[in-house]
Amino acid sequence: MQEVAAGQGRLGKRSVRDLPVAPGDRVLVRVDFNVPLEGGRVTDDSRIRAALPTMELLLDRRARLILCSHLGRPKGVDPETSLEPASDRLAELIDAPVHQAPEVIGPQARRGAQRLPEGAVLVLENTRWERGETRNDPELAKQLAELADAYVNDAFGSAHRAHASTAGVAELLPSAAGLLLEREVTTLRGIVEAPDRPLVVVLGGAKVTDKIALLDRFLDDADALLIGGAMCFAFFRAQGIPTGSSLVEQEGVELARKALDSSEGRRAKLLLPQDLVVGKEFSADTERTALEGTEVPDGLMGLDIGPRTAADYAEEIARAGTVFWNGPMGAFELQPFAAGTRAVAEAVADAPGTTVVGGGDSAAAIAEFGLAERVDHLSTGGGAALELLEGRELPGLEALDDA
Ligand code: ADP
Ligand code: MG
Repeated sequence: MQEVAAGQGRLGKRSVRDLPVAPGDRVLVRVDFNVPLEGGRVTDDSRIRAALPTMELLLDRRARLILCSHLGRPKGVDPETSLEPASDRLAELIDAPVHQAPEVIGPQARRGAQRLPEGAVLVLENTRWERGETRNDPELAKQLAELADAYVNDAFGSAHRAHASTAGVAELLPSAAGLLLEREVTTLRGIVEAPDRPLVVVLGGAKVTDKIALLDRFLDDADALLIGGAMCFAFFRAQGIPTGSSLVEQEGVELARKALDSSEGRRAKLLLPQDLVVGKEFSADTERTALEGTEVPDGLMGLDIGPRTAADYAEEIARAGTVFWNGPMGAFELQPFAAGTRAVAEAVADAPGTTVVGGGDSAAAIAEFGLAERVDHLSTGGGAALELLEGRELPGLEALDDA
């Protein structure tokens, strides 16, 4: 049995810390270097930095590191999506020689891996340059496996995909979870398996249908569920409250109706906005109106929660033992409609409880407000985090050797 600290969930898989690695062993590490590029340079290196601890642990053991990752969605060889800018950036961040292979598999990749000195790093090209990657092609998995003696997956953001470099190859080598993958999984599972209570979950954003399963789960597992963003309009529509031209997803309305009908018998107290900020259109120049309540007049759309709602939500967050936040409270990219999201972000930063933020836009909002350092865990995987919290298996995790 693995020891699990308070507030932490199970990993259930071997950690890289327990993987036998002898000096000179070749370790294939699946990282998430799916970073934004501009003019051949990496504009945000946080994913590269997040993978450093695992690389450093293996380099300390004098392993030879062979890294692989996808970047973007190329459908074959495409120099625009080369990993070279990422390996250039890695070379600046890590105290080891870094080489870039011109391909994923093939003679040059094999030779590069063969000749790689102890304590050095070889970065393979974008795994999606191989068509077999997304099909989890056994031949591609086999050729990747032949490059190394062991496999480590540290790409949490890709763990929900059964690809050759995340799932197929893991079956063919001794394997383990990297430190980032381990931290993501134990922290996120900790929210549902062993949270310090009360567990307060804040859900917002625009992709309501993506979050329906999560909403349903947290109605039973959380103590309070605070709804903001476009998600609240599914509830208002279900309650027959006018929503004007606000963003409403029909599928969300059905679930909202079920959630409201069953709310008596469920654990979580469900909080909806009491006041809203509206505009005519999704634009920073539109006229901004603060409503007393939540009835959105015709021709207007709800673009933020109002100040009374924000204050209420902040109070719930301050009382929480654990906070999980996914999805902005409004159109935070538009300065006139950012206040609700900012208030929640500040409350999360100030909260004495354990704080976890998931979702690409929520993470971007926290970073924009300069509060990222004050959150306990900022998840690096949007889709993977949602699937893990829903209780679904992640193929990239399941394929690894058991603990
Ligand atoms: P995350 O990436 O954190 O999971 P989503 O992708 O679900 O979040 O949603 C983020 C988007 O939701 C933002 O671009 C934001 O502008 C939008 N949004 C939030 N509230 C509203 C609203 N009331 N109306 C329209 N868009 C909204
Ligand atoms: Mg998003």
